[in-house]
Amino acid sequence: MIKVAIVGAAGRMGQALVRCSKVVTGMQVVAAVDTAACPLCGKDSGLIAGIGENGIKITHDLAAAVKDADILIDFSFHENVPVTVALATRHKKGVVIGTTGLNPEERAAVDEAARVIPIVWAPNMSVGVNLLFALVEQAARALGLDYDVEITEAHHKFKRDAPSGTALRLGEKVAQGRNQNLRDVAVFGREGLGGERPRGEIGIHAIRAADIVGEHTVLFATEGERVELTHRATSRDALAKGALQASLWLAGKKPGLYDMQNVLGLS
Ligand code: NAD
Repeated sequence: MIKVAIVGAAGRMGQALVRCSKVVTGMQVVAAVDTAACPLCGKDSGLIAGIGENGIKITHDLAAAVKDADILIDFSFHENVPVTVALATRHKKGVVIGTTGLNPEERAAVDEAARVIPIVWAPNMSVGVNLLFALVEQAARALGLDYDVEITEAHHKFKRDAPSGTALRLGEKVAQGRNQNLRDVAVFGREGLGGERPRGEIGIHAIRAADIVGEHTVLFATEGERVELTHRATSRDALAKGALQASLWLAGKKPGLYDMQNVLGLS
């Protein structure tokens, strides 16, 4: 039985993780962590997640939670990720990171920790999106630079980072398929007199509205035809179940940085 601690337990994804952990066999939630300022701190995490009392109260004591768990699952805030991986490193525990919006220093902290502990980091934990990553790279390789690529993503109005980590990863997949470096060819939104679209550019655009769970489309267009690959998430459960699947997979793995392609055997 794998024991997991959920960091960001009072949040939208945290609650979905607690809820879905009930239907995933071979694991048990042993700690639910959020900030001291969180009004749900001290409340039963099962009640908050809508599955009835589970006896695990939401705590702000991450240090204690780390000791009880085999694996930490972090869906919190980018600034907290270095804290989670530092504690996990000290106690030699694996970490599944779903949190997005990491800056280069935070990303470096994850890379550094992955020398000592196993980490799955994925901007999107859904099986469908990870299949989309593989399909997009394949399409980009087959269609080449004659097809203009535009990536659009839509999320709920509370999402704090833009574009989504998933949109950026889709951009990287396009770039890999076409032997480009995303940083050299990405354009984020467009405004003003930008002139003619350069060949090979990858446009990335973010929509924020109401309660949209998460939608991503990669458009490949040339004169006379276009191909669109779309994924739509209709609930957070697909993401939560993917993260729980990743924790089961991670238990006992060697130190290193893994992604959902590894978890799902798609790489
Ligand atoms: P949310 O705002 O609903 O929840 C985040 C929770 O983390 C909040 O309860 C907040 O109080 C808590 N938190 C913030 N700082 C913390 C800290 N220092 N310690 C402990 N808890 C802390 O957000 P959400 O929609 O649940 O998303 C959380 C993160 O996960 C975001 O970065 C989001 O982009 C990402 N996300 C990733 C995936 C994926 O599949 N990888 C899917 C959905 C969301």
